[in-house]
Amino acid sequence: MAIEVEKPSFYESALKQFDLAADILSLPPDLRMVLRMPKRELTVNFPVRMDDGSVKMYTGYRVQHNMNAGPAKGGIRYSPEVSLDEVRALAMLMTWKCAVLGIPYGGAKGGVIVDRRLLSRMELERLTRRYATEISVIIGPDLDIPAPDVNTDGQVMAWIMDTLSMHHGRNVPAVVTGKPIAIGGSRGRVEATGRGVYIVAREAAKHENIPFEGAKVVIQGFGNVGSVSAKLLHEAGCKIIGLSDIYGAIYDPNGINIPLALQYIKEHGKLSGLPGSQDINNDQLLEIPCDILIPAAIEGVLHRNNAEKVSAKLIVEAANGPTTPEADVIFERRRIPVIPDILTNAGGVTVSYFEWVQDRENFFWSEKRVNDQLEEMMADSIKNVFSRADTMNISMRMAAYVVAVSRVAEATEFRGIYP
Ligand code: NAD
Repeated sequence: MAIEVEKPSFYESALKQFDLAADILSLPPDLRMVLRMPKRELTVNFPVRMDDGSVKMYTGYRVQHNMNAGPAKGGIRYSPEVSLDEVRALAMLMTWKCAVLGIPYGGAKGGVIVDRRLLSRMELERLTRRYATEISVIIGPDLDIPAPDVNTDGQVMAWIMDTLSMHHGRNVPAVVTGKPIAIGGSRGRVEATGRGVYIVAREAAKHENIPFEGAKVVIQGFGNVGSVSAKLLHEAGCKIIGLSDIYGAIYDPNGINIPLALQYIKEHGKLSGLPGSQDINNDQLLEIPCDILIPAAIEGVLHRNNAEKVSAKLIVEAANGPTTPEADVIFERRRIPVIPDILTNAGGVTVSYFEWVQDRENFFWSEKRVNDQLEEMMADSIKNVFSRADTMNISMRMAAYVVAVSRVAEATEFRGIYP
């Protein structure tokens, strides 16, 4: 029988983490009140004509959390589980993520309640164009710049860019990032989040005195982020001993052949059954003894009911919000460092920022320049967060929050309260 796990809502978890950082920073109550709340929340209900001629209603959201440091930035996800609570939490995390990297953006997020797998390509296009039109009142290159997230991709971004461009009567490439290169996307953007995860894992291993070459790594999720992280870690000599997707997990103590896994999932649509590996389930995966555990799937997977069973020396959060605050306390007591999402998966938004800059300058960088600049910005932020954690004797998460929240608080104080 499955055990019911009582979890706080994602937004409650995000607020709790902010409150802890605000306490450390002794933020004045007024400022705390301003930073806790999203600036703007838009809910849209809209009709989409299906291929058979019928009409279905869909609900979508766009939430802008804070825009004091610059225009808002954040992905759009398509999922049956999307809720206002989830989008709010993710918008807040985007504010802190941009701030921890020192990118001049605020945070936003969007989503549509839909199971993408049930739509034809034409239906997906009509849904995307209508959602883009509904949220067009609050997005724009100087206002709010969406990007891909779970179940959205370069094609979806291309339709949004085209829709907004049709409205304006001219090309507006900088309205979204994560576009295909042919219409103003950046080289290196698709791999950027996974590349950032790899850089963070490498630096965190160094900080924790874990030999990186040969390190045993377990990764939950083998989508955009998980698969690129796995590939780069594998190429760097790490041993990926556990991997999973939504259907199940695989284990090989000698190290999974990642190029083979990439090929296998392309052909079979799932990882289980990969020759040479043992099939296990997603709960067992998180308990495999390893050096580095990388949750790269969804939120809330490390919680109070399984945190005691995790047997990793280091946790690197590639997904957004994979650890609940209760699990964080357990990991802190067990002295398992958790490198937080707002730092670990910031490679995507960093290269999105490069894409936006390139679109506005109409001058496009080489892949080497993108990757070098990403490495430099991530390395600076990692150094900053690790040294805060060491000098203030706080967790990596709190150190990242302290860096981020103090930057946003400073911007908010300078601007003052209007009018
Ligand atoms: P994706 O849809 O490409 O891949 C998600 C992976 O997780 C898939 O392998 C899927 O099978 C697996 N999965 C889904 N539900 C699962 C479950 N219940 N248990 C186990 N596995 C499950 O998504 P992605 O773009 O790789 O994003 C993964 C995470 O990283 C999300 O939390 C997302 O918000 C975050 N993130 C993504 C980016 C980006 O650039 N794509 C940037 C920052 C953060």
